[in-house]
Formats: sequence, structure tokens, C-alpha cells
Amino acid sequence: MTPELHGKHVTVAGLGVSGVPAARVLRGLGAEVTVVNSGDGERERAQAADLAELGVRVRLGDGDTLPEGTELVVTTPGWKPSSPLFAAAAAAGVPVWGDVELAWRLRDRDPARKPAPWLAVTGTNGKTTTVRMLASILTAAGLRTAAVGNIGVSLLDVVMGETEYDVLAVELSSYQLHWAPSVRAHSATVLNLAPDHLDWHGSMAAYAADKGRVYEGNRVACVYNAADPATEELVREADVEEGCRAIGFTLGTPGPSQLGVVDDLLVDRAFVPNRQQQAQELARIPDIAATARGGDEGPPPAPHNIANALAAAALARAFGVEPAAVRDGLRAFSPDPHRIEYVAEVGGVTWIDDSKATNTHAAEASLAAYESIVWIAGGLAKGATFDGLVEASAKRLRGVVLIGADRALIREALARHAAEVPVVDLDRTDTGAMAAAVREAARLAEPGDTVLMAPACASMDMFVNYNARGDAFAAAVRELASGDGGHDQDSPRH
Ligand code: ADP
Repeated sequence: MTPELHGKHVTVAGLGVSGVPAARVLRGLGAEVTVVNSGDGERERAQAADLAELGVRVRLGDGDTLPEGTELVVTTPGWKPSSPLFAAAAAAGVPVWGDVELAWRLRDRDPARKPAPWLAVTGTNGKTTTVRMLASILTAAGLRTAAVGNIGVSLLDVVMGETEYDVLAVELSSYQLHWAPSVRAHSATVLNLAPDHLDWHGSMAAYAADKGRVYEGNRVACVYNAADPATEELVREADVEEGCRAIGFTLGTPGPSQLGVVDDLLVDRAFVPNRQQQAQELARIPDIAATARGGDEGPPPAPHNIANALAAAALARAFGVEPAAVRDGLRAFSPDPHRIEYVAEVGGVTWIDDSKATNTHAAEASLAAYESIVWIAGGLAKGATFDGLVEASAKRLRGVVLIGADRALIREALARHAAEVPVVDLDRTDTGAMAAAVREAARLAEPGDTVLMAPACASMDMFVNYNARGDAFAAAVRELASGDGGHDQDSPRH
């Protein structure tokens, strides 16, 4: 039921990309809104002035104290659960909703419109790719849909907007799930589970529990990764609607109630009339992002993108989409930038930008996709360790070029598990280091090799974000391709 917000005293925790729209929506619904924000810079003051015109109070410089009379807190995803504001809310018996929870509760506020069911995707890595694949498949099936949520399209905007949808492909982060207790997806998937954002969640168990929330109350299918038992465990623990099925995806031959791979075919042994004896062909592996990869002649898709395609196909099939639309949607899909993005081939060496590989789990998947690699890595480790990644990838490494603040952690792991692999430690964290890294990688690479920039770290020590890091890499590679590689002033430590 749509909550009554008129006249209600609501505190919004945080300005920014989701706080400002949440405050506007709440005010539009007649709530008495106060935004609290610990930062008090120029940008915040400008935002506060805009909101003040709508009658929203903004308290800058104190994000810890709960305003008197608060009946509901709506938080932006960045705020840690351990923030004093939430302790104060809990002590006062005041509920805390994330912006996704608010969107969910407002989705049926217009009785003339049937709310669109959500097909939800979470996981440590692959969310954006899978959600885009899913939206592409649903579109190919003739459904009115969009890729929304953590992907950069606010669910609140979608729910409050004019456009009508048949179904939504929703990316949810662990932060959003933490504060979205009543969201009930039609079907959902946890793609994989590896340590990430533990500083926010407090522990791996808390992180997994938040991810697992995506399965709560699913109606048709809980889709898990057969290669990642932790995801299946989350399905077992979830309280779902009667008749909801557990559906696995695997890069191997699928068992009953699974989607998987046979030869170069993606096949469905879950949504077929007789799953004990029958399997349905959905698409060929080369269909995945066919256009973006240059058709059948292009390089094969990375294994993790086959897994993402299977997860997307499973959700679409759970929604009743026909096999031909799965194929057409996967063919039409094109990946977002900086995700295993082909940059150039120079002198027989292929250059790939996977700047979005900001954690070790993503980088390991990426490294598994190539045979002989010069790896550009490093940045902010966010508390990660690199032994597992280096051990798993050592035999594929032709050489390594290290950049960024926490590169010593990777260097030490390389010394332990890949001592024979040449390492260039650039000992730099300035933005120009990427061009130097590219030149060093070019020196190490031999024809047939792939130079892979999959840093396993966040970018903020050197760049504004992973996009800027990827752009700097691509620009340096293009410079190299044009024969204008230049010479590095700072001699690296080998
Ligand atoms: P997210 O939205 O979860 O960050 P993306 O689709 O943007 O995921 O992909 C982020 C990075 O994670 C990619 O650049 C790739 O290196 C890696 N990746 C993508 N899919 C997977 C997967 N299924 N398993 C492991 N790593 C993956």
C-alpha cells in the first residue's frame, strides 16, 4: 500500500545524486522534509538553496544528529549503517528506508497504472552488464522496459515518471538492498559473491546477507550461479512465494532446472515442458554482443560474460520471454565502456581496457579470458589481498606493470606466487603514470599477447573515477598506435 507521506516529518540523509531527488519527491508528496548532510561546501550550499525554494530545510555540517520530530528517515546509499544518525533513529523507533525502498512503496500510488514487476540483479561483479543484457532481451521480446537502479537511472524517477513499463530490469547494489526491506522482485539473481565493500557492511556475513535480500519474496525464480555455492546458499535461506523455483546457471552442461552451455550453444533446461529429458536452444555463444565484437569473426566473449548472458536469459525466461528474443537481445547488446573494451591492435598486440575491474574478483575473471597477458594493475586496494588473484593468474602473465598507491601489495603477492614474471614498478601515482605504464607494457608485450588494464583496485588515488582511468589508458594506447609513444622522463624501478 502506498504510504501516507503528506504532513509527515521526513529526514533525508545526504544530498547528492539520490538525496536531492528524494527530497524533491517527498516534498512534492506534501512531506515536511529536512535534509542533513555532514559536508558544508560550495556545492552543498547551492543545492541547499535550490531545495529551500521548495520549502525543504537543509542542515549542513551535521549528519549525525536526528532532527527533532523525525518520523521517517530516507537515506542515500553512501551512508554507512554504523552512522550515528541510524543509531539515533533505531533508538527512537523511526524506520529507515533507502531511496529504492521509497520507490518500491510509491510504485502503485496511481491506481490507474499497473506497477511494472521488477527483475532484479545483484552480485559483486557483472551487475551492469547483466542488467543491460536483460533489458536488451526484454526489448527484443517487444516489452516496454528499461535498465534502471544502480546503473545510474534512479528508480524514484522511473516510478514517479510518466512512462509506463511492462517490466523493469533493475540493478541493485548491496547498499541499496540493505535499506530496502520490503522490495519483492518477480525474479532475481545474485551473480556471484566475493569480498567487497566490507568497510561499509562491517563483515562478509553482513555483505552476503544484504545481497541475499534480493531473493526475499521472489514469485517465480531465484537464479543462482552454480559455480558459486554461496549464491545457492542464499536462495536456500530466502523466504520466497509458494511455487518460486531455484534456477541455476552454469558454464558447463546444464542439469534439470539450469541454464548452461552445450558446445557453442546457450541452452535452457529450466523453462521447458519436460526438463528431465528436454533442453531448449536459446542462442549461440558468438551471438553475445555479436555486433559490438565485430560479428562471428570478432574475438570470443569472455567467459564471465557468457555467465552474465545466462543469468540474463534465465530472468527473461522466468518472465516468459521466447527463445528467439533471447538470441536477438544478446546479439543487439553492446557492453558499457571500460568493461573488457577493445582499444586497438598495435604490432600484433591487443590492448584491452577493463578499468571497471576495480576489485580482485573482477580482475581474476578478466585475466582468465586471455592466454598471454601483460597486466597493468594497481590503485587503491580497499583492504583487499592479492595472493589468490596472482596465484590463479600467474601462468598467463607475460609481465606486469604496476601503478598507484597500493601497488606494493600486488608486487609482494607477485614475488610470492609469480617470482619469474617480470614486473615494472612505476612508483607513480600521478595521472601521467598511465601513459608511462602503456609504454612499459608495450616493451614487455610480444605479438599475440594481450595488454590488459584490469587494475583490481579502485582508481581514486590517481583519477576522478574508473572512466577517467580507462580514458587515459585508451588515449595513451592510441598515441602509441600513431607511433608517437614519446619517452618517459622517470625511469621505472624494475
Ligand atoms: P558491476 O555493475 O557489478 O560493477 P559490470 O558489469 O560493470 O559489473 O562489470 C564490472 C567488471 O567486473 C568488468 O569490467 C569485469 O572485469 C568484471 N565482471 C563482469 N562480469 C563478471 C562476472 N560475472 N564475474 C566476475 N567478474 C565479472
